Amino acid sequence: MTEQMNLPMTCLGDKKAHFVLIPLVAQGHLIPMTDLAHLLAERGVHVSLITTPTNATRIRPIVQRSIESNLPIQFVELKFPCAQIGLPDECENFDLIDSNNFLPFVEVYSLLRNPLEQYLLAHQIPPSCIISDGYNHWTAEVARRLCIPRIVFHGPSCLFALCNYNTIRKSNHLTDYSEQFVLPHMPQTLQSNKANELNTFNAPGWKEFNENVFKEETTADAIVLNTFEDLERQFIELYEKVTGKKVWTVGPLNLYNKDEYSKSLRGNKLGVEKQERVFNWLDSHKPKSVLYISFGTITRQNGLQLMELGSGLETANKPFIWVVKEAEITPEVDRWLSEDFEKKVQQKGLICRGWVPQLSILSHPSVGGFMTHCGWNSILESISLGVPMITWPHFSDQFTNEKLVVDVMGLGVSLGTETVCWMPAADDKTIWVHRDDIEKAVQKLMGEEEEAKAMRRKVADMADNAKKAMEMAGSSYDNITQLIESIML
Ligand code: UDP
Repeated sequence: MTEQMNLPMTCLGDKKAHFVLIPLVAQGHLIPMTDLAHLLAERGVHVSLITTPTNATRIRPIVQRSIESNLPIQFVELKFPCAQIGLPDECENFDLIDSNNFLPFVEVYSLLRNPLEQYLLAHQIPPSCIISDGYNHWTAEVARRLCIPRIVFHGPSCLFALCNYNTIRKSNHLTDYSEQFVLPHMPQTLQSNKANELNTFNAPGWKEFNENVFKEETTADAIVLNTFEDLERQFIELYEKVTGKKVWTVGPLNLYNKDEYSKSLRGNKLGVEKQERVFNWLDSHKPKSVLYISFGTITRQNGLQLMELGSGLETANKPFIWVVKEAEITPEVDRWLSEDFEKKVQQKGLICRGWVPQLSILSHPSVGGFMTHCGWNSILESISLGVPMITWPHFSDQFTNEKLVVDVMGLGVSLGTETVCWMPAADDKTIWVHRDDIEKAVQKLMGEEEEAKAMRRKVADMADNAKKAMEMAGSSYDNITQLIESIML
């Protein structure tokens, strides 16, 4: 443990509430749990957010803001034992490794158990409960030893959690990975295939890990989901029924960040100069005219696919802002971008290399569409800010999230890809989505046909519902109240 900040203690009634939040060290999991920590702290709960030095460095401005606001959050940095699994120093986040072999990464995380227990036992306010990412199954043992409740936080949609429960554990009879099957026990017909349902985390070695995750989910006292009732009501009810557990929906958590400063801080630090370039460009465009394109923090595309996407965007001829990850920029891609593509698209398109403040961009009035990989945070951010989507899932829950957006809610246009693709080798030459399909989808989403207009109306309504859910007396607001009360009774 390298740092504990000295913040005032708070009381809830005459009891002191101390919630211990333990996210998985991947941006898509850390970001919403950091928002949850703030929401709980605003309600008077003392929060310990367990993190590691490299991850804490990324959110330094957020830590600073919490201190200045006198919020009772301690950002607790536990030393991450990189050397024990042969990772380089400071390689403490999923987005810092060059392969998709995350297994040693999640396993080493359990080595934080002892330092965590020492921290909690020494704390002046005894812990009231642990809220830990579902993948951090090792925290169940900590909760048992300390005799406190443990609540599982799931990052993805409730639909995915439900499919995970109903299907992933029960589809071993399917040997053909592309064979379509109807997802069982759903309120409406939804099809999938084994590749999409099991995909990423079915590689050798994951079996035991997954079994531990499932086992410790069944021992959890309750489940917290970053979603809201109006979006997933039917699936939430079913999920409560099959798990037999109370499911607290507390999202969309991104709506915690109301002012521009909070939005721009979220997740990572960005140079002011770069932000100015992005927002000056957005300011120069008409309302709802710009398509924002980003594929989250982990997926990567090969050079040929990037060029294919670029061609589709060019012929679609709508203004766009496209985030290309540093890890995707090989010398060849760099040459293509700076000597060819950026010159061709000029004012029509802005290419951002590396991290951008996504929440601020999606909030900008010029943004009228989002081409997304269907990471659950990206989807919730888009819905809660009233931006319809073009969906291009790459792996894991993203295929199921796409079904919710396109088939169930009608809030997006699918690119139709069914193939898992998330970290192709550097020399991979596969093109998963072709330029014509990209062009058609962009025209459809950003055009003036009735279908596009209907989607905009629907997503605007859902954005209103999302805001209401998070306001006082809204469903997510009330769930946070009840969650705290259930622990402190
Ligand atoms: N994000 C961001 N800037 C970027 C890329 C991503 O702020 O340049 C944020 C995005 O707003 C979201 C998170 O990173 O909150 C990504 O989570 P998501 O679940 O969408 O995808 P993942 O990265 O987990 O696949």
